[in-house]
Amino acid sequence: MNFNTKLLHGGQAGSYAQGSTTPPIFQTSAYAYDSAESLEKVFRHQAPGFAYTRVGNPTVSAFEQRVNALEGGVAASAMSSGMSAVALAFLNVLSAGDEIITGSALYGGTMDLFTDLKRWGITTHYVNHVCKEEIAPLINENTKVIFGELISNPSLEIMDIPAVAELAHSHNIPLFVDSTTATPYLCNPLKLGADIVIHSTSKYINGGGNSISGVVVDGGKFKWDANRYPALATFKKYGNLAFTVRMQTDIRENMGSCLAPQNAYLNVVGMETLGLRMDRICSNAKALAEGLQQLPGITVNYSTLPDAPYLHLVESELKGKGGGILTFRAGSKERAYKIVNNLKVVLRASNIGDVRTLAIHPYSTLYINRTPEETEAAGVFEDTIRVSVGIEDVEDLLADFAQAVEKADAE
Ligand SMILES: *Cc1c(COP(=O)(O)O)cnc(C)c1O
Repeated sequence: MNFNTKLLHGGQAGSYAQGSTTPPIFQTSAYAYDSAESLEKVFRHQAPGFAYTRVGNPTVSAFEQRVNALEGGVAASAMSSGMSAVALAFLNVLSAGDEIITGSALYGGTMDLFTDLKRWGITTHYVNHVCKEEIAPLINENTKVIFGELISNPSLEIMDIPAVAELAHSHNIPLFVDSTTATPYLCNPLKLGADIVIHSTSKYINGGGNSISGVVVDGGKFKWDANRYPALATFKKYGNLAFTVRMQTDIRENMGSCLAPQNAYLNVVGMETLGLRMDRICSNAKALAEGLQQLPGITVNYSTLPDAPYLHLVESELKGKGGGILTFRAGSKERAYKIVNNLKVVLRASNIGDVRTLAIHPYSTLYINRTPEETEAAGVFEDTIRVSVGIEDVEDLLADFAQAVEKADAE
């Protein structure tokens, strides 16, 4: 099946109860069984079935299987948020004393998480750009994960996955990729060599901006050495599902990061249009980036502009498309605020991947817990505005930004 067909017919579609065309919402906490013996079998994972929704739920499974079909993994694990997906992907394999290498252009929440992990003995090293040359010198025997965002939010650094995966694997280290901004529509990181793919599905996969959730997709190829990854030692018997079984029956269950069935349903239905939305979002973003560049005193960062730094990776990894995020610099914080305040169609809100176009001043919001140095290393300056482009008619978006800039300069 091709991408758009899989969005509708992938995973368990076709086998829902009563012929239901969308997955029924199993709004239940527990599942009753006819005997103590059968419930014991479910608890011992000797029989298929659900026992308690914190551990598993059929609607959540339908969502997991749909995402897994799109990413081409062995299994997907849904979470209550993108942040719990990021956090538990690491906690699933790391122990105190372990180290992570990642790029400094990261989602602010993920940087905050790495600060938290430091207190638990897990150290993160940052490079300016997640590439072979910068990562190689930092690798040591404690390096247990190399991590990066495929298209970093919001600085739009793009990772060369095959090159970084090759380096990681030559040291028996897995590569984890946060592919939230690329979506499975632009790229399947597992096919390029990544081992674990993480999404905040609150964003493009849900698409409607109506629920918070995340997912971790397991490529099933990495060999988890029991000495280097003792957290997975007792799960080795599950073969290529070791990571996922530990995730679903241990760390996710114990941390309690389960996804609500209602939100899983909204995700399954929302993601049916992922391909259509991404086509439109990418063409709108490109046109908006080109239009914004014509406005006075505005410098735009968008991945397909002729002077963008990773055009070769946009071609080789992202189907030639730049995704839905662009940033621009307005010259000063005051001017950036005035422009944001004068927008009429575009909403001032802190989300991405919504069908509606959203704008935010990230320096004073998403990065308030970071130092100015860290914030600038993440590509966010005092005059930066981030735009998450939606599916409106692009003429209306262009006109809205043009009038906002004109009004800001007249004030
Ligand atoms: C939003 C986001 C997250 C966090 O996801 P939530 O669903 O908000 O918890 C993580 N990584 C990236 C790249 C994001 O954009």
